Amino acid sequence: MGDDEKVKDEALQIIGSFQVLPRLVVFDLDHTLWPFYCECRSKRETPSLFPHARGILYALKDKGIDLAIASRSPTSDIAMNFLNKLGIQSMFVAQEIFSSWTHKTEHFQRINRRTGVPFNSMLFFDDEDRNIEAVSKMGVTSIFVGNGVNLGALRQGLTNFSQNSGSSDENK
Ligand SMILES: [Mg+2]
Repeated sequence: MGDDEKVKDEALQIIGSFQVLPRLVVFDLDHTLWPFYCECRSKRETPSLFPHARGILYALKDKGIDLAIASRSPTSDIAMNFLNKLGIQSMFVAQEIFSSWTHKTEHFQRINRRTGVPFNSMLFFDDEDRNIEAVSKMGVTSIFVGNGVNLGALRQGLTNFSQNSGSSDENK
């Protein structure tokens, strides 16, 4: 069994232990899914993801949870090129990649319009405090990741999501 398969298996177990799940999980790109700023890279390079990222994406997809991207990268062409090379571009139902003055509130409004998923049914992973702060104010469960998305962050995210959904049945 490869590393991706092992992580996917473990992620499936983690997801399976929660009663209430988000309908959509949104990821930042730079320093969340991959360990670099893609604006500093060349399209000719071969990118790689953080070690747990692929297994987590596959597990969420397997469980019928939709995936999306919210990135403030000024080089969406490089980002899209890298997602293609990694073979994961088609996994995302929304890919909002554009630089903005706002801390991703605009990205989430677009994702909401595109998918119809309410903010309180979304879970978001990002490595920047200001994005976490702005997006959680919209009602999205937002998780800070210090060293890329990993199984610990996934567990934390689903735990916080459950707690935030605790008082209502709307997210089931
Ligand atoms: Mg980032």
